[in-house]
Amino acid sequence: MSAFAERRIFDLDGGRLSLEFLNTMGGLRGVRPDERLTDYADLPWWAQQVGLIDRRRMQELIALAGQHPRRAQQALAEAVAAREALHAVVLAAIEGRSPPAADLAQVNGWIAAAMQHRRLRPKAGGGFEAAFDDDGDLLALLRPVAADAARVLETDLPAGLLGLCGESEAGRCGWIFVDETRNHSRRFCSSKDCGNRAKQRRFQQRQKE
Ligand SMILES: [Zn+2]
Repeated sequence: MSAFAERRIFDLDGGRLSLEFLNTMGGLRGVRPDERLTDYADLPWWAQQVGLIDRRRMQELIALAGQHPRRAQQALAEAVAAREALHAVVLAAIEGRSPPAADLAQVNGWIAAAMQHRRLRPKAGGGFEAAFDDDGDLLALLRPVAADAARVLETDLPAGLLGLCGESEAGRCGWIFVDETRNHSRRFCSSKDCGNRAKQRRFQQRQKE
């Protein structure tokens, strides 16, 4: 089996690029965290799975990181720091608290830096489309994620569309998702996993009573 095949398949239940990025931390932060970005290679591997880069670029980045282990380690630490700051801001908003100032400042810096690399280019058939430079920076792949985070904070969040998995109450899952159901009824990151687990627990509870 190749090193690529052995890597983790990420669960993609968030419904937005930046939420999938937040959900690269599994379990529940502070209770039973399950970090899924354990070395730099997990980043391109994730980015390929969410469709940000192709497999060839993923392999190039992993090779580049192998040649520059210190830079790669630092890039991973920066990515995780940006992710955790964004998480703190999003979670505070979901819970109706004001965002921690330091985290919001970090998120703003992250988004601003990414936007410096956003370019419009003519689209076939007229108009323009936006693209992000890939200048070889090990974290260039996160620029569209930062831009998506801005959209989520400006649009989905004020519309009340963001939800925290119901299994957070059981201390099991802290995944965040966008609720696009018509009647706003989504409660779990995944009905198959967390939804089922909650249902089974309720069933067992009733059996005991
Ligand atoms: Zn969940």
